[in-house]
Amino acid sequence: MLLSLSTTHEPATDLGYLLAKHPDRVQEFDLAFGQARVFYPQADATRCTAVLLLDIDPIGLVRGRGDGSEGPLAQYVNDRPYVASSFLAVAIARVFGSALAGTSKGRQELADQAIPLQVEVPVLRARGGARVVRDCFEPLGYRVDADPLPLDTRFPEWGDSCYLHLRLSGNQRLRDLLAHLYVLLPAIDGDKHYFVGDDEVEKLLDKAGSWLAAHPQRDWIALRYLKHRRSLVRATLARLLDADEDEVDAVETAREAAEEAIERPLSLNEQRMGAVLAVLRQSGARRVVDLGCGEGRLLGLLLKERQFERILGVDVSLRALDIAQERLHLDRLAPLQRERLQLVQGALTYRDARLAGFDAACAIEVIEHLDPPRLAAFERCVFEFARPGIVIVTTPNAEYNVLFDTLPSGRMRHPDHRFEWTRAEFETWAHDVATRRGYSVRLLPVGPQDAHLGAPTQMALFSRDA
Ligand code: SAH
Repeated sequence: MLLSLSTTHEPATDLGYLLAKHPDRVQEFDLAFGQARVFYPQADATRCTAVLLLDIDPIGLVRGRGDGSEGPLAQYVNDRPYVASSFLAVAIARVFGSALAGTSKGRQELADQAIPLQVEVPVLRARGGARVVRDCFEPLGYRVDADPLPLDTRFPEWGDSCYLHLRLSGNQRLRDLLAHLYVLLPAIDGDKHYFVGDDEVEKLLDKAGSWLAAHPQRDWIALRYLKHRRSLVRATLARLLDADEDEVDAVETAREAAEEAIERPLSLNEQRMGAVLAVLRQSGARRVVDLGCGEGRLLGLLLKERQFERILGVDVSLRALDIAQERLHLDRLAPLQRERLQLVQGALTYRDARLAGFDAACAIEVIEHLDPPRLAAFERCVFEFARPGIVIVTTPNAEYNVLFDTLPSGRMRHPDHRFEWTRAEFETWAHDVATRRGYSVRLLPVGPQDAHLGAPTQMALFSRDA
């Protein structure tokens, strides 16, 4: 694993002073889990690059643990030596300790100054993809290039892996940049090699106290950094916001309410959820699965109604599921409530036994996220294998897009949409599926209707033939 750090601030070789590592020498450090080396592939007046190379000893890791919980092979064969993770964070703190603390013997003024810096991390595991990485670094003022790495270059059709190549650049004080990496790399990676105990809160506050409070992804970062230890997360947020823990909950609620108020006059989402809920209530369904549940908006509404005895949320995105779990306060629900709801990660394009046995399935604003060739797999997964009594599918009506003031013409509503269908296109698809799979289908408009262009959202309500 390596991390490279460059500057073009002249004389660039001053980077050696800032890091307290002489550009002419290779220096070595012994760490509990392996060895770190620092060297400079380039050191001249206009550009200087320092590399922190980390050799993790996989056998050494096993010796320290050896509980065998991940199976004997996983202890030896895993991605840890090759990715940026909490190991790298520990190495940064050990090897660049004084720079992280913001001190420099020969160049204190420079250490206190923002200078152009670039970082390169060849392999970072990011299960949530490039978007998560951008959401973490961009608000801190970085330009982010996060390129997904293919699973196997010999088989491009297998697609991308969950690893990516990261490049950051920005004007930063070196101490801030190192602190950002120290906190965000392990948070994005999502795995911590050591036990997360109370002193982690101190580490997080020490390294992130000055910037995390205002970060839009604050809660997610704290949750991931503290490995989902919620009591620690609450304590951290309370101290970041300088409030007590009850107040933190109150602040959260107020923030959500403010957001809702802004959206209220045009909340198509609310109308959509209302329409779906009405259909579900009317159908008498007791067991409901929400396919592509996202951040759990529908799940929250279902939980409030006794009719729904068993609720399952499925999504391919762990990040969305993390957020859903937070939003729904799953850890604070009474046990009986908690038993009604389950969240699982899954792809809707593979047969999945967990999806069977439901009265109703919803796929709200999901199909347009699937590549058209994968629609057939979705169809089989839902209508052939899971086969619930009713299926509710919603998707944008492309014809309506010209009525959105802020949407440039010809553009889709969301960058991740693979297609947006006209009413005729959706109807054709829905009728074909119903005929092939033994369902009947009705199409319904959702939202304010335009006489010519229809409603912004279209809904198909499938009912299984008797
Ligand atoms: N139904 C939610 C979220 C809609 S966004 C709502 O209306 O608020 C679409 C969701 O589908 C995202 O959360 C995305 O992660 C999920 N998704 C996309 N492709 C998927 C797939 N193949 N399997 C499971 N979930 C998928």
